[in-house]
Amino acid sequence: MAEWSAGWSGEAPDDADGVLALCEGSVVRPGAGWLHDWDRMAGLLAADSDPVFVGRFDGRSVYVVELARMKAGDESGHVSLREALLETEDAPVGLISTSVQVLQWWRDHRFCGRCGQPTDYHPTERARWCRQCQVPWYARLAPCVIVVIRRENRFLLARSSRTRRYYYSLIAGFVEPGESAEEAVKREVMEETGLTVNNIRYRTSQSWPFPHQLMLGYFADYVAGDLVLQEDELAAADWFEPGLLPPVPPATTIAGHLIRVMEQEISCGEGPG
Ligand SMILES: [Zn+2]
Repeated sequence: MAEWSAGWSGEAPDDADGVLALCEGSVVRPGAGWLHDWDRMAGLLAADSDPVFVGRFDGRSVYVVELARMKAGDESGHVSLREALLETEDAPVGLISTSVQVLQWWRDHRFCGRCGQPTDYHPTERARWCRQCQVPWYARLAPCVIVVIRRENRFLLARSSRTRRYYYSLIAGFVEPGESAEEAVKREVMEETGLTVNNIRYRTSQSWPFPHQLMLGYFADYVAGDLVLQEDELAAADWFEPGLLPPVPPATTIAGHLIRVMEQEISCGEGPG
């Protein structure tokens, strides 16, 4: 694994050793590796794309850019973000995930949301800075909870009504202002399924740059209620036991990982944690 530090130096080095190139939701590879030489980027950038400093990767200063759209059909080297992050073994996941979110932040905060003036670099932090208002504009991060609900030796899987992918996954949703993550778990589960849960326990998290979620993974136990699905969220949901699951997301996703951990816990005869 390459050495990676995403720290913000406070200065904007003009010595790009490597460039991660994005284009409309895809990473554009230069061939075998992931980083382009800066010299080869001339004339390829999108009209509104500044090169933005991301961090140091293997001792190299890395920038991210958005490329201009290619001619139709000329998409050599294009790898969808999803494929790069979840299905490509040698992908530098931290670098790509950070780059996508840094570029998004940079484009979203070119102007101050209070006074409308153009923003600058913050002198010491990864933030854009409005001199007039003295306000920093940080990258957005949206915390989301995702939860496996256990009921004796089965657990709940649900199929979203918003995706065309035919697989079953977990109940998930955004944390709202003023809520703890555990409160968000209870509310989301109640809203989407009509069920009450308790014994909510944290397992793990995953950065999910589609576009800027931080997924917080939980286990919870069923307490009461009959399944009543929120139709605009869920097309189907049911209780499943280990070994008899419908298609589920890959283990590289937090949903896929949590499902496999729960499957193993139940198969090994472990009670709720
Ligand atoms: Zn301002």
